[in-house]
Amino acid sequence: MTADGGGEAGLDERQRIVRSAWRELPRGDRNLLEAIGADQWQVCERPLGMVADEMLRSADCGSLPSSEIARANTAVALWVVDLRVVLINEGHDAFGGLDGASVVYNLSRVAWHEWGHALSLDRAEHGDIAAGESYLGMLPEGFAKLVRRAGYRPNEYTHEIVAEVYSMLIGRRRVGQTGRPPWLPEEIYELVRRVVGWNQ
Ligand SMILES: [Zn+2]
Repeated sequence: MTADGGGEAGLDERQRIVRSAWRELPRGDRNLLEAIGADQWQVCERPLGMVADEMLRSADCGSLPSSEIARANTAVALWVVDLRVVLINEGHDAFGGLDGASVVYNLSRVAWHEWGHALSLDRAEHGDIAAGESYLGMLPEGFAKLVRRAGYRPNEYTHEIVAEVYSMLIGRRRVGQTGRPPWLPEEIYELVRRVVGWNQ
């Protein structure tokens, strides 16, 4: 099932891309995601705060605060922890004007990032989350800036770093590169390994 709005064929194609991004995850990672109930996703073509709010209400999980709806409306993708589903807004500007290969790459990256989030939210420990600010300080400036500029709260830094590094690691794996990228501090690599079970 997908969202309303046009482009049925387009949406089918997007679903197929996300499915193949899923299959590209190492078997052990998929097992972990299945074990925490994070193997569902939906590709939509609408702002995700609205979609998530509707889904939560129809599942009797209450409504989202309007500030959260507004925040999520700007997101490319979202892990809705209460519903155990990854939502991706393929109508987002971030996917606008891309050629086919770039759509595949960006959509895969976004899905990997959200699966990294799901693992991080369930598996990161208090100490990991409390150390978010210091992990951010260890990252290369460009990477750290992205996280700071996106306006995350300090208690979200660790999740954001794990999700983005995980997505990068899977992307490198696609081109046959494994292990720790040279620019990634050892501490953060170990954090990601511990939280997402990465062993490639
Ligand atoms: Zn994120």
